[in-house]
Amino acid sequence: MKIDLSYKEGLRKLVEEYRKNEKYRKNLDKKVDECLKWKEKIETDKLSQEKHEHLLKDIVEQLLLQGRGSKGVKTQLEKIEEIIGQWSIENLEKNLDNLGMSNKKKEKLKRILEYLKEHEVTEWIKRLDNNDMFVPRLGPKSDEDFLKEHGFFGHVPVDRHTKRFLFRTGILHWYLKKNEKNADVLKIFEEDYEVFKRAIIEFCKTFGDNIKIGKKKKLKLAENPGIFDIVIWWHCGEDNEEGCRNICGRYPRCNECVFKEHCLWYRIKCK
Ligand code: SF4
Repeated sequence: MKIDLSYKEGLRKLVEEYRKNEKYRKNLDKKVDECLKWKEKIETDKLSQEKHEHLLKDIVEQLLLQGRGSKGVKTQLEKIEEIIGQWSIENLEKNLDNLGMSNKKKEKLKRILEYLKEHEVTEWIKRLDNNDMFVPRLGPKSDEDFLKEHGFFGHVPVDRHTKRFLFRTGILHWYLKKNEKNADVLKIFEEDYEVFKRAIIEFCKTFGDNIKIGKKKKLKLAENPGIFDIVIWWHCGEDNEEGCRNICGRYPRCNECVFKEHCLWYRIKCK
């Protein structure tokens, strides 16, 4: 039996689902434009004091998010703010033991702060963007998330939603068949972050060339796979306060999914 999944059409439908709904379209355009403003300021080294402080907070937030959901992180950040007074390298360093972080996270933060005492934060971000392995890092997913959140949409964080989506839809299998023929798909599912990242980047590059996003700057999805991560999050995530619809969540609701005709799971299991 040959299954034609026509991913190009599926990707177009899925993105369109969120663009045709005013609430999501506004959110998507707004988010993309906000992120791009960050990117412009970072690339031109034009950061105000306030933006510097904001970036330090974002770094800490990414560390707090590691290994847990986003629930409670906002409260934890507020508590940290109360403890340190103002977001600065010195205040964070002084209070490292009071931030409620594990030793591993503390150590990562310490190394980043040490680096930032000697270098501009914009330089650190640009080096992360260039995949420079000699700068202190947050961690594979957090680095990508941080970069994506600041407009570097060539980067895609891969979380359990993304993995599930890529696996169920057959996108992972499509990528492996094309690029890594001898790969053990189950082993990859458990261990290989990088393969998922490459799969989503190649998926967008191959099938997203006619999709453009963002109110002011029309960005091609093919070159900005990080934007697709936002759509996946809404489609698959559980946090309905953040607009997530949990359609391809732990228990997929395939009959409500616009991607279903293009999804391996649906075509095999539900048809
Ligand atoms: S059809 Fe079902 S399994 Fe496939 S993407 Fe949609 S919800 Fe997920």
